[in-house]
Amino acid sequence: MPENVNLVPVTSYLNWDEYFMLQAMMASFKSKDPNTKVGCVFVDDNNHQLSMGYNGQISGIDESKIPWGNIKTVPLDQQKYAYVVHSEANAILHAKAPLGNSRCYVTLFPCHECAKMLATVKIKEIVFLSDKYNGTVENSIAKKIFEMSDIKYRELKIRPDLISDMATYFQFMT
Ligand SMILES: [Zn+2]
Repeated sequence: MPENVNLVPVTSYLNWDEYFMLQAMMASFKSKDPNTKVGCVFVDDNNHQLSMGYNGQISGIDESKIPWGNIKTVPLDQQKYAYVVHSEANAILHAKAPLGNSRCYVTLFPCHECAKMLATVKIKEIVFLSDKYNGTVENSIAKKIFEMSDIKYRELKIRPDLISDMATYFQFMT
């Protein structure tokens, strides 16, 4: 028998970007927001997860008394925007370790309010899936904050074959 018979080529089905973005997507599924579900994961240089979050209501309050509706023509106290805590804010608030110099994988490009927090805790890089608010004032402010803070940001495209393979997997599971 040759000595190295078990030295098979080393490969992984997922690269790190895909691995963490799928985790961020999974976190987003936990959100109760009927319109916008966002998830994020913070990762250090060793590709170890530091924190994760999704958009949700204020922890510990009676959620049944708080609106999830996004109609903006009613008073602010009747809109979700008055109460919802964004995924990035939740991940920062509940982190068990400092997030400085980490990468943030997030399913939606951060808003300007979260950008302030991400810059303050000195995130190194943002990897996002969707930038559907590109072109709005708030989105430009977020990008300006990242550029002024030397925070890199880049879009990640998920391979279509990865999505179809996962769909096949979930079909197999049911
Ligand atoms: Zn935000």
